[in-house]
Amino acid sequence: MMRVALDMECDECGHDQFMLPVQKKQGDQVTCVQCGKPTCHTSDLESALGAFAKHNTVPEPVLESATDTLGRMRENA
Ligand SMILES: [Zn+2]
Repeated sequence: MMRVALDMECDECGHDQFMLPVQKKQGDQVTCVQCGKPTCHTSDLESALGAFAKHNTVPEPVLESATDTLGRMRENA
């Protein structure tokens, strides 16, 4: 799992850091680091990140590292 800050908030506790699964066996659920609530799936996140990249408003390092991770996951899938 990899801990990342994302431009969204947990529905449950409002935290903005999430755990991303980095291996296929870890599933595809993105969970809140604070309360552990499953927030979305990596496939959802990927489309959200893709939309961010498209608009290219703020090139945040965090966003880039999350995108890199998702890219590696896709290569390893
Ligand atoms: Zn939470």
